[in-house]
Amino acid sequence: MADVSNPAQVDSPEARRYNRIRRWLGIADFAVGVVFLIVLLVSDWSGWLRDLAYRMGFQGYALSLFMYVLLLLAISKALGIGLDYYGFRLERGYDLSTQRFRSWIWDQVKGFLVGLILGTVVVELLYFTIRQWPQNWWVLAWALFMVLFVVLAQLAPIVLFPIFYKFEPLENEELRRRLIVLSEHAGTRVRGVYRWRLSEKSKKANAALTGLGATRRIILADTLLDNYTPDEIEAVLAHELGHHVHRHILKSIFVQAVITLLGFWASNWTLHYAIERHLFDFDGLHDFANLPLLALVATVLSLLLMPALNAYSRFNERQADRYAFESIASVEPFISAMNKLALQNLAERTPSKWVEWFFHSHPSISRRLAAAEAWGRNQSVHMRI
Ligand SMILES: [Zn+2]
Repeated sequence: MADVSNPAQVDSPEARRYNRIRRWLGIADFAVGVVFLIVLLVSDWSGWLRDLAYRMGFQGYALSLFMYVLLLLAISKALGIGLDYYGFRLERGYDLSTQRFRSWIWDQVKGFLVGLILGTVVVELLYFTIRQWPQNWWVLAWALFMVLFVVLAQLAPIVLFPIFYKFEPLENEELRRRLIVLSEHAGTRVRGVYRWRLSEKSKKANAALTGLGATRRIILADTLLDNYTPDEIEAVLAHELGHHVHRHILKSIFVQAVITLLGFWASNWTLHYAIERHLFDFDGLHDFANLPLLALVATVLSLLLMPALNAYSRFNERQADRYAFESIASVEPFISAMNKLALQNLAERTPSKWVEWFFHSHPSISRRLAAAEAWGRNQSVHMRI
């Protein structure tokens, strides 16, 4: 629970406002997406777009499907760009961003192209399985998706992230030595620690464990490396190592596999239901005008599961925090790092209970600090005994 007697635990009106606006921005973005999908289906604009895609794709199935994905993504980008720009202005307005407009536009272009490539691969695979195995397509599509998912998790740190940010191996010998000591203590080895040049775009600080197998690495933002003490950075490293030791990425992939299977089953059921009842003008399973319906099922499912997935993520974060407490000499640097992060990122230390329950993948700062302080008190009691 938040300690209100400690003034540092009370959020500034600025932090409250910033986070409230960001939440509403997220909700608006989600709503625009859902309304777009529903309008496409109900008005049969999806069928009209499919016919247009067939003309653009010279009537060939695979090329027309690509054209359809391109049209869909271009329209949804056009619908969402206003909100994206508002988000960009928001970060600048709260002095949290260092990104220039041109760089932001360039990121939008790159983001769109990456989305188009990934979207095309996913959708082509999807309709390939539907056409080849109309009976059991959803199980096969699920298996193929999981393979793709694992490959992407592996490639992300070396292919995807460098499209948007620069990374370089951490040169700091002192920190490398500390990481080796931490890793040996854990009986494990992380292959690399990378300096993440976040400062080119943001004033916020961040750190993460990414990759799978040979690409497994810890990334630390330069905004953190340049402003935190070695002890504080070690506390952050220990937390990330906690994710590695507890195999959180692998476990998350398993959770994702179960959810994706459920999603494919639900998509298949909904598609059959819609076709049998002639709810929309679909020309069977293979008619890709039904793609918005599949996307809608996935969207609704992810909304319903969001609280559960966030609760699972918060559980993992608490586990990684506990691992950090056990690994470092004192929890003091962890506490000061958390306080600095909250200030630097304009985070809400004490969000309302439902906001934390629904939206947050991490426990609130106040809860993390309380856990660290309780751990510290416990340790000093043991020492006295
Ligand atoms: Zn974490």
